[in-house]
Amino acid sequence: MNRLAVYPGSFDPLTNGHLDIIKRSLALFEKVIIAVANNSTKQSLFSIEERIELIRESVKDFPNVIIDTFDGLLVDYCREKNSRVIIRGLRAVTDFDYEYAISLMNKELAPEIETVFLMASSENSFISSSIVKEVTMNGRELTNKVPHQVNQALLKKFNKKGNK
Ligand code: ADP
Repeated sequence: MNRLAVYPGSFDPLTNGHLDIIKRSLALFEKVIIAVANNSTKQSLFSIEERIELIRESVKDFPNVIIDTFDGLLVDYCREKNSRVIIRGLRAVTDFDYEYAISLMNKELAPEIETVFLMASSENSFISSSIVKEVTMNGRELTNKVPHQVNQALLKKFNKKGNK
């Protein structure tokens, strides 16, 4: 019944943790929209165009993925796209309170939309965009935590050569 799912996030930048959630979502849904939040209140390292380009390069071999951006409320975006499923990834307990609160609010705003949580896989459970930024800012490459092009883009952004 639910063939389409929306996977929203900042993706600043995309990590292997995000990629894992995307791959697993594609095993559950026919089509997945990766919806990059155009959130002006959140300071981002990469522009929305850069984030989209990095996602595009990283998922180029995946079938049935659409990359899009959204402003405003996620539930309004989902309704506009006719999607009744929101995908979120859950890492350690620290994600839980935040994700629970948002999913309850989304349920209140749009009762027909269900949030589906996929647990982070063990190898990605501690990876976050912010940790990845912190490490590469100091010149260390993280080739097994982010796609190659993301690693390159991070090093370029911070003007580092890699593998200090
Ligand atoms: P947001 O600002 O919306 O939290 P993120 O890009 O940080 O955007 O995360 C988008 C979604 O991906 C969130 O549900 C987050 O919990 C999930 N996520 C992020 N990193 C990982 C990971 N390593 N493993 C599984 N899920 C993850």
